[in-house]
Amino acid sequence: MSLIFEISRKGRRCAQFPDRKVHQYELPENLTRKQLDLPEVAEVDLVRHYMGLSRLAFGVDNGFYPLGSCTMKYNPKVNEEVAALEGFNEIHPLQPASTVKGALEALKQLQDALCELTGMDAMTLKPAAGAHGEFTGMQIVKKHFVASGHPERNEVIIPDSAHGTNPASAAMNGLKVVAVKSNENGGVDLDSLREAVGEHTAALMLTNPNTLGLFDENIEEITRIVHEAGGLCYYDGANLNAVMGLVRPGDIGFDVIHLNLHKTFSTPHGGGGPGSGPVGCKAFLAKHLPDPVIGENGFEYSEDSIGSVRSFYCNFLVCMKALTYIKVMGSDGLKLASENAVLNANYLLSRIKDIYDVSYDRVCMHEFVLGLQRLKDETGITAKDIAKGLLDFEIHPPTMYFPLIVHEALMFEPTETESRETLDRCAEVLRHLHDLAYSDPAYYEGVPHTTVVSHVDEVTAARNPILKYEK
Ligand SMILES: *Cc1c(COP(=O)(O)O)cnc(C)c1O
Repeated sequence: MSLIFEISRKGRRCAQFPDRKVHQYELPENLTRKQLDLPEVAEVDLVRHYMGLSRLAFGVDNGFYPLGSCTMKYNPKVNEEVAALEGFNEIHPLQPASTVKGALEALKQLQDALCELTGMDAMTLKPAAGAHGEFTGMQIVKKHFVASGHPERNEVIIPDSAHGTNPASAAMNGLKVVAVKSNENGGVDLDSLREAVGEHTAALMLTNPNTLGLFDENIEEITRIVHEAGGLCYYDGANLNAVMGLVRPGDIGFDVIHLNLHKTFSTPHGGGGPGSGPVGCKAFLAKHLPDPVIGENGFEYSEDSIGSVRSFYCNFLVCMKALTYIKVMGSDGLKLASENAVLNANYLLSRIKDIYDVSYDRVCMHEFVLGLQRLKDETGITAKDIAKGLLDFEIHPPTMYFPLIVHEALMFEPTETESRETLDRCAEVLRHLHDLAYSDPAYYEGVPHTTVVSHVDEVTAARNPILKYEK
């Protein structure tokens, strides 16, 4: 594909400006640009350029996208319509609060809905993504112990199956990471946890269902062990899609949580943003939330706040899309979404688990993890080959090589928005790819065969990336 600058021809335009009868003024020399290179194209060229670019990428609007942990559910277009409303889209973060009362009211409604859904007492919408929410949550934990005279509580316990952002968020706050093992069911090993807790424990960071797609049945025992040792429990809400309306983190012992609005609440993500990672907490921690919070009377500030964690208030339009989703779905709809997310994952798994090995053979929640070590041993075909092979059938690869405790891992999360026909087709493609691994392993040389960019040399791509366009 050509760059838009390459198809540019002097004088071509795709806009006609209205004839304005206004005076012309000379601008001072120091305020004018000497040169501004902008592409000059006709409207048809512009449309084709962007359509062409969109075809180079794969998104959830192109096809099935079972990227585990990331919850690539369909994003209803009504969310976009609401976010585009003038009162939401054409306000400025520097406007006085008194002129944006409706927007603040909408944010308050979202906060309240998220509190209700998670069993938390207070919520901030500030963090810009899940990892930023974790960072904020860990600051709150740290502040709590420093403020209550226990700065020695500086260890965060994290299971070995955790998402990489969990240990990173703890470490970036100067907290020490203590790993605990998973048991034979894929849950937290209680004995390891009992050994890990102590007078230095600040918090446990946990996602439930965990990154293996398994609900930890010992969850109440787990949070009790941590509380009895004097620590707090942090819930990584990235997997809330499995339990909305069914389980509230606040009811099973969690004190601080983050959510990923861009995952669970259907706002487009990927390609770097924008996201939103609200952080909720129990009442005793609310005074530490980042400034300002939206209370009954607009913005409120607290002396005990951890301070600000970003410019302005939040990724506002992402929040409006999430609010729209929640309102359209209603509480019954959200519950049904979670039930169907779990059903879809179990359905897809049941259609392939006679030939693929599943990492933990239990009823899964909204996602499951295959382990392809046996396939690799028998055929030389890896999890990566199968993942890339899916692209030739217009299916986005699942998450690969994560969680780290499963060898040759492929993590599928179909989400609730996919039909039975889509799941059936995915199962058939996966069965076909499995057959090919045994009957024609050479097929996998250079997969994917049909995409614009095919098999890249990943070492070269990582070591010598070409980040600048060169003809
Ligand atoms: C996605 C994810 C995160 C991080 O969220 P981002 O919004 O990508 O920063 C954290 N934990 C889990 C389990 C996740 O799936």
